[in-house]
Amino acid sequence: MAERIVTTLHHPFHLQGHEIQIGTSVGIATTTSLEMPFTQLLTQADIAMYRAKSRGRGNYVIFDAAMYAEVLTRRQLELDLRQAIEHRQLRVYYQPIVVLATQEIAGFEAVVRWQHPEQGLLSPTEFWSVAEEVGISLPIERWVLRQACYQIAEWQARHPTQSPLMIGVNLSGRQLAQPDIVLYLERLLLETGLPSHTLMLEITEDIVIQQAEPAIAALTRLRQLGVSIGLDDFGTGYASLSYLHRFPVDVLKIDGAFVHAINQDDKNGEIVRTIVTLAHSLKISTIAEGIETFDQFSQLRTLHCNYGQGYFFAEPLTQFAVESFLHAYCSERGVIKRP
Ligand code: C2E
Ligand code: MG
Ligand code: MG
Repeated sequence: MAERIVTTLHHPFHLQGHEIQIGTSVGIATTTSLEMPFTQLLTQADIAMYRAKSRGRGNYVIFDAAMYAEVLTRRQLELDLRQAIEHRQLRVYYQPIVVLATQEIAGFEAVVRWQHPEQGLLSPTEFWSVAEEVGISLPIERWVLRQACYQIAEWQARHPTQSPLMIGVNLSGRQLAQPDIVLYLERLLLETGLPSHTLMLEITEDIVIQQAEPAIAALTRLRQLGVSIGLDDFGTGYASLSYLHRFPVDVLKIDGAFVHAINQDDKNGEIVRTIVTLAHSLKISTIAEGIETFDQFSQLRTLHCNYGQGYFFAEPLTQFAVESFLHAYCSERGVIKRP
């Protein structure tokens, strides 16, 4: 029956001279119990329908109990997340970014973590989609920006290095589309006294591909402030090198997928070499993400990739871990020594 409904409605039909085509998603719930309230049955069908929608249009899904449990867990996560900021459960972690040629520390990438009271430390992969749905991803991002800028300004003052420590902060397309984002950052830089060239905003490929005018305008203005723009996870989406000269980008972050594959065959090494060479000829510097082994590190250094980050050097660290680390290692020569 569901298949027939989906197929029948798939055919275009005419409405006041327009050809209309609609997609259909069907959720099915059944019961043998006469006691089950009608509204409960409808709720179950609704849950199944949303599941069908998430699989793409033209699907049907039959409700089962596991689905209900998942919905409840997600609802709970939504409720918890709304309180996370207030209850001070969010943390900023800092992953070192290293100069590959010298192994000096160039700075950090700020990533958010949620110290959940029952579930422990959660990474954004576990709660970011919920945050977006609930509409609190934007305030969370601004909070991270603020924390990270204050923190790095403090570390710069306390641990002066030859070139000041930099900070990379992730910025979503939604955030970039906020009309006040440039003003917000301008004020934040003033307030923290952070030299603008030590802040890198990491944007994702979808922003580049959509080429939305407001986003490009915002990025251009941010660059005029002296902030640098990093293109995150390069190579995973559809952005190609041809976008780069049309787009205000200073840094390319080569995705971990390339880095992990680098020693599997020569082709991947060639891809990375090409990315690095082309980026450099466009005066764009390169950061390799997800370096996990010495081999990957040494190959990327040979390929003249400028910077690297990954578990080989360090995982994202707490503020306190960074502080004792900076204290112990940076006071000598600013060289990261692996334990
Ligand atoms: P990303 O910006 O590409 O961040 C790097 C991710 O790779 C981090 O995951 C980091 O923990 C992980 N990683 C670092 N080194 C290694 C390694 O050697 N191997 C592997 N396999 N992974 C490594 P995390 O923290 O879970 O963040 C996931 C994504 O969530 C980030 O990817 C970023 O896109 C987003 N994100 C994190 N914090 C924020 C934030 O404050 N604002 C926004 N808008 N997005 C954020
Ligand atoms: Mg990033
Ligand atoms: Mg990345």
